[in-house]
Order: sequence, then structure tokens, then C-alpha cells
Amino acid sequence: MKQKKKDIRALTKEQLQEFFVSRGDKTFRGTQVYEWLWNKAAHSFDDMTNISKETRQMLKDNFVINHIRVDRMQRSSDGTIKNAVKLHDSLTVESVLIPTKSRTTACVSSQVGCSLDCQFCATAKLKRMRNLNPDEIYDQVVAIDNESRLYFDRPLSNIVFMGMGEPLMNYNNVMKAIEKITSPEGLGMSPKRITVSTSGVPKMIKKLADDEAKIKLAVSLHSARNEVRSKIMPFNETFPLEDLREALEYWYSKTKSRITYEYIVWQDINDTPEDARALLRFCKYVPCKVNLIEYNPIDDGDFQQATSEATNMYQNLLEQNGITVTVRRSRGKDIDAACGQLANKSA
Ligand code: SAH
Repeated sequence: MKQKKKDIRALTKEQLQEFFVSRGDKTFRGTQVYEWLWNKAAHSFDDMTNISKETRQMLKDNFVINHIRVDRMQRSSDGTIKNAVKLHDSLTVESVLIPTKSRTTACVSSQVGCSLDCQFCATAKLKRMRNLNPDEIYDQVVAIDNESRLYFDRPLSNIVFMGMGEPLMNYNNVMKAIEKITSPEGLGMSPKRITVSTSGVPKMIKKLADDEAKIKLAVSLHSARNEVRSKIMPFNETFPLEDLREALEYWYSKTKSRITYEYIVWQDINDTPEDARALLRFCKYVPCKVNLIEYNPIDDGDFQQATSEATNMYQNLLEQNGITVTVRRSRGKDIDAACGQLANKSA
């Protein structure tokens, strides 16, 4: 029976170097191939022009290079680009390029579907099929970097893990991808330009702090009252706000890095002064800022953006108490590319 070939990008640099040494070649050959695979994002062994033909053949006999394919690219009237990304096993995820005057941000996926069940998010309606591998996360970033250079004449400047999935539920692979994105043999990006957004998995937030990743942390809070949050993010039953608070205090004590809370104000859900006061209390635990984000409707009608009065009420209360607030407008809504709309629709 034909043996299944290994994905060469599952190997670390050291393992690749050892592979060459075990075949009587040099450590350096491993480094060269590693650079082709990551820095130059080669999709074929034949692209590796400074590697001999024999060695390339030997690699082909032993390995495959799994890579993603941008199956469909859609451009929004506001410049936002959404990629439907086909994985080697035919599953699809989405990633988004968000251009502003001074930045290009890549919004990348970490899982196919999502294991959480946030009631207001389109991705949550999809079953979680599997975690993405480090190279699949990395490749989304490379694809967007290329598009940024092509359409906006500049490299990618920021990355947010706000696409499909819960990044802290795929911790090891997300961290491996970040390592490659930040390493000189990869894209050499600063970790300060990378934001991991989480619904709030306390244990993993602590681990992230311990691992000193130097990335930024955003938390999808949406309510600072357990009874409300558990209704819209049922996962809050397992990890209530008290546990989240403790993890965030730990994060700050270790990293001294300010946290961003993402928050949507919905009509009849969290639009009362009591809700706003609860958020203010929560904001006092750890240095933070609040992003009030616009709700992007998903197909069912249970959630509706609150009135601008309600949003202003939040903004005023927070600002009067010294909390930085930004009101974030959605991008890419016309192509279902906005936050919470990623559900593999491309019609
Ligand atoms: N699982 C992670 C990352 C994916 S969601 C997390 O929860 O943070 C990325 C962001 O989109 C989160 O802030 C999330 O709360 C927000 N979001 C989800 N559904 C949305 C919707 N319908 N409209 C606007 N934002 C939404």
C-alpha cells in the first residue's frame, strides 16, 4: 500500500534540519528549505530553485506541501476584500482584508466553524469541523499580504484573530502560526500588531500571559452582567464573569498590556443604564478601552442594534469616568465580510 506522504510544513525548522542531516546532507539545507516554505511561501518543491533537482525529487518522494487556495475573492464598495479559502481537505474558511488610510488589517480565521454558541454570530451557526493548522493560519496572512501589496501598494500592517472560530480553543496552532508570522524566517511582523480576540476562556488567557507572546488581547464582552451574558453567550455559564475578571487581572499583572473590550449594544438586551453601569464597573478592574461595535445583522431577527441614544448613553458614562471609547463602524457589510457575518456565504 502506498504510504501517505507527510505534510512538510508540520515540521519545525529543527526537525527539517535533522531530516537533512540524517540523510548525510547539511543542516543548512534544512534552513534553505524552511525559508522557501515560510518566508517565500512556496507551494511546490520545484519553486525551490537553489535546491538541486535530486534533492527536490527526494522531497517530493517523502512529503507534500499542503496549501490553501483562495477560491473566491469579493471586493466591497468600501475596499474591504473577503477571501473564501479552500483548505486541502476541501473545507472552507474566510478571511478579510480591511483597508484604512494608514493601515491594512487582516482578519483571519482560526477554526472551521466554531465550538462556541454566541447567539448573535453567524459563524456559531456552523458546526465546528476542525481546528486550522498553523500553516493554514499563516497562509491566510500571506494571501492578504499579497493582496494588500497588489491593491493598496503596501504590505499588511496588522492582524486580528477575529475571523471564524475561537482562537483560544485552538491555542497551540494559533501560537505556532504567530511564531511564524513574527519570526524573521516568516513574515517578521511585530507581535504588537497582532490582536487575539476571544470570547473569554479564562484558563487560556492565563496561559497566553504566561507564554509572554507580546500580542494584544481583545475580549468580546457584550455584557458585564452574568444573567444577560449567559443568555447571549451561553458559554458564560461555564466561565462566568468572575473567572474572566480573575484571568484578565492575571493577564494585566503579567503583561501590563491594556485590554480591549468589544461590545455591541442591542435593543432590549443590554441597552439600559444598569447595563452600562455594570460595564463601567467591569472596566475598573483592569486598564482597558472599549470598542462599541456596530451590530451586523445575521439572518434571524432576534437581535437588533440599539438606538443611537443607547449607544451615546454608554459612551458618555464611560468617557465621563475616564474610559477610552471608540465607536467602530462596520466594514464590508455588503459582501457579508463584517464581524460575525462569516458563514461561508458567497452568493
Ligand atoms: N471567537 C472570537 C473571535 C471571533 S468573533 C471572539 O469571540 O472574540 C470576532 C468579533 O466579532 C467579536 O468581537 C464578536 O463579538 C464580534 N461579532 C460576532 N458576531 C457579530 C455580529 N453579528 N455583529 C458584529 N460583531 C459581531
